[in-house]
Amino acid sequence: MFHVKQVDVIVIGGGHAGTEAAAASARRGARTLLVTLKAAAIGTMSCNPAIGGLGKGHLVREVDALDGLIGKAADAAGIQFRLLNRKKGPAVQGPRLQADRHLYKIAIQDLLGHQPNLSILEGEVAALDVSGGVITGVRLADGTCIGASAVVLTAGTFLNGRIHIGDQNWSAGRMGEPASQLLASQLAETGQKTGRLKTGTPPRLDGTTIDWSGLESQPGDNDPTFLSFMTSSITAGQISCGITHTNTQTHDIVRANLSRSAMYGGHIDGVGPRYCPSLEDKVVRFGDKDSHQIFLEPESLSNATIYPNGISTSLPADVQTDYVRSIRGLEHAHILQPGYAIEYDYFDPRHLKTDLETKDISGLFYAGQINGTTGYEEAAAQGLVAGANAAAKALGNAPLFLSRTQSYIGVMIDDLTTFGVTEPYRMFTSRAEFRLSVRADNADQRLTAIGQERGLVCSNRWEAFQNKMAKLDGAVADLKRNKSSSRVLNELGLPIAPDGPNRSHFELLSFPSVTVEIVAALNPSLAELPAELQQQIATEARYAQYLEREQQEAKKLRNDEDMQLPATIDYRLIGGLSAEIQKKLVLARPRSLADAKKIEGITPSAILILMATVKGRTKRALAG
Ligand code: FAD
Repeated sequence: MFHVKQVDVIVIGGGHAGTEAAAASARRGARTLLVTLKAAAIGTMSCNPAIGGLGKGHLVREVDALDGLIGKAADAAGIQFRLLNRKKGPAVQGPRLQADRHLYKIAIQDLLGHQPNLSILEGEVAALDVSGGVITGVRLADGTCIGASAVVLTAGTFLNGRIHIGDQNWSAGRMGEPASQLLASQLAETGQKTGRLKTGTPPRLDGTTIDWSGLESQPGDNDPTFLSFMTSSITAGQISCGITHTNTQTHDIVRANLSRSAMYGGHIDGVGPRYCPSLEDKVVRFGDKDSHQIFLEPESLSNATIYPNGISTSLPADVQTDYVRSIRGLEHAHILQPGYAIEYDYFDPRHLKTDLETKDISGLFYAGQINGTTGYEEAAAQGLVAGANAAAKALGNAPLFLSRTQSYIGVMIDDLTTFGVTEPYRMFTSRAEFRLSVRADNADQRLTAIGQERGLVCSNRWEAFQNKMAKLDGAVADLKRNKSSSRVLNELGLPIAPDGPNRSHFELLSFPSVTVEIVAALNPSLAELPAELQQQIATEARYAQYLEREQQEAKKLRNDEDMQLPATIDYRLIGGLSAEIQKKLVLARPRSLADAKKIEGITPSAILILMATVKGRTKRALAG
């Protein structure tokens, strides 16, 4: 194959995974080329105009801690900032913002435009060039061949994408953009295991035709929580959302037309996201509910388009108009673009290694929606890891591996590569075992140094991080060193016996009745810190004993994963393992528990049984 050009890394796709992959690869110093169908569409938000949220906010903060794009771009485009679960514990709080679609795209394109080592080419990749099981480059639809040592594929919903509205359907990557058929056909020939998934989006409404007067309004927080550790102020105008509800009439309209829905009329085979149900799903699955909440979210400061969050659908356009107009405030609403469902190919992520390289083709990495995930944040996080590792492959550098004990990114990649997916995978805080230590507020403390070591973090961020850590560590040391007598504390009104021992100021923060302000009044180094860092120290103090326990468990898990499985082990003699799993283990002969976890179909309970076996509880199996 004659390549007109040779680069280190080619990234296919300019969505949330592709942009992050390209930037990460270039940050590591690899000559990187981003090839995408439409350059002007780089950074498009295909569905809802929001970034972050529960679990997803953690992912964005982690990408940001590694100097990725999504947090910075989202903050620059943020038109409403909210910290979800504010009243719950810090482990499950999730920063979320609503972004102006247009400003978000501008911010992403601007960040890429200023990224050294990165060039962008508009074009369609028609095929991957593979020689002897190794990627050598890509071939474009116009016949141009470009060589590379590593390729990252991030084609989103475009591979064999098909849009459905009622009984109408057509080939498309998303509304208004063609599907990627040529590449999908070539990939099908490689024999990789694929499946079909689906997702949906609601109709977009003209905000000038909505009667906002009787609707509840939801403003953002007064003290915005930014997604990027580098953001210090809001730059875009701020908006409020409206809140309305479906009603029994809406549900009757949906019920009467279910057979005309693409999903319920039998036109779609793909599995949809359980946690993002369509209006049809809500009416069928939660038949006892008379009403569902809808957030009316402005999509941009520069136009009146409204995203009605909560009513995605694949019903025909006329039914969409009927049900929309049955809703309070929307009686005269005009639909600018009908809602639709999209079905697309994804690849079984169990065919990926933990660095997101495919097991079959050396140098080929997959990231984003094509791995069975849904969401901008999940895509961005995988993109960063795949891009960083593609650069490592091309340049011979150390790979980036994040474990589930240290990050939500690690949780997601471990879940995907170990268990695969049966429905679109989205992040939740409940997926992470070490929630108290792996929080959104401390993502930089967990990951920025790792990013710096891997050449992913620019000098500005590194300097800002080191300054922050110096202040934080200094304040914690002061709080631990300085003590107050129980008498003084008692006089301050704290419920402490006056004849008790002296208490350190750090210890004081662990008392539920002691506020940060009380301790700040005793300790100037705490008082001097920004509110967010004060809060973080208070969290660490309050949960100190649980955090320690979590860290011990994390260490144990890491040790367990390193646990070697003796070559003498006879899996057929291990009770509790199904015959199928025994067969897989006999065949694969994993060397460690971590290797065993990666075998397709091995369940968490099988892993626990193996652990118990090696720890000597099932001597018979080991005797052989
Ligand atoms: P995308 O953002 O889809 O980007 C893919 C990129 O690949 C595009 O730039 C495209 O031009 C490029 N490309 C494709 N093929 C080629 C080729 N052959 N050559 C060159 N370039 C190519 N997420 C949620 O969290 N909640 C939702 O409710 C939700 N609903 C959705 C509804 C719809 C209708 C759609 C389309 C998406 C929805 N999503 C939702 C998903 C969200 O948009 C994606 O998860 C996210 O955009 C995935 O990012 P990505 O980078 O993997 O792919």
